[in-house]
Amino acid sequence: MTATLNMRVKVADPKPAYCSACLQGARADVEFYDFQAAFDGGTFVSGDGRWVKGSDDLYLCEDCLQMACETAGLNPQLHGRQGRRIKQLELEIEHWKATVRRTRAELEEQVNSNLGPVVRRK
Ligand SMILES: [Zn+2]
Repeated sequence: MTATLNMRVKVADPKPAYCSACLQGARADVEFYDFQAAFDGGTFVSGDGRWVKGSDDLYLCEDCLQMACETAGLNPQLHGRQGRRIKQLELEIEHWKATVRRTRAELEEQVNSNLGPVVRRK
């Protein structure tokens, strides 16, 4: 029998009560990520020792996810900028390839029509 891990991370909606790692409470300005992974998170206890809430699902806040990425050597902001720059350079490459094709076609047309030299040497 083969076990299949079908886990997808998504933005938690609705947000959980707490981050599974740092126990930060959900706030409007903090994004949470749902790892869709069941685990035994035990219970969360408030500062005064009261039981607050149990959790059986893994949710991480954006701070914990950022920390995990940095620990793993990932930098989402840098990689995002690099990805956008790569797309920009790919567009420039396509532009210049089209320019080369167009220029080549023009040169071939001029040569074929015997209009004379199109490139002057110094
Ligand atoms: Zn957290």
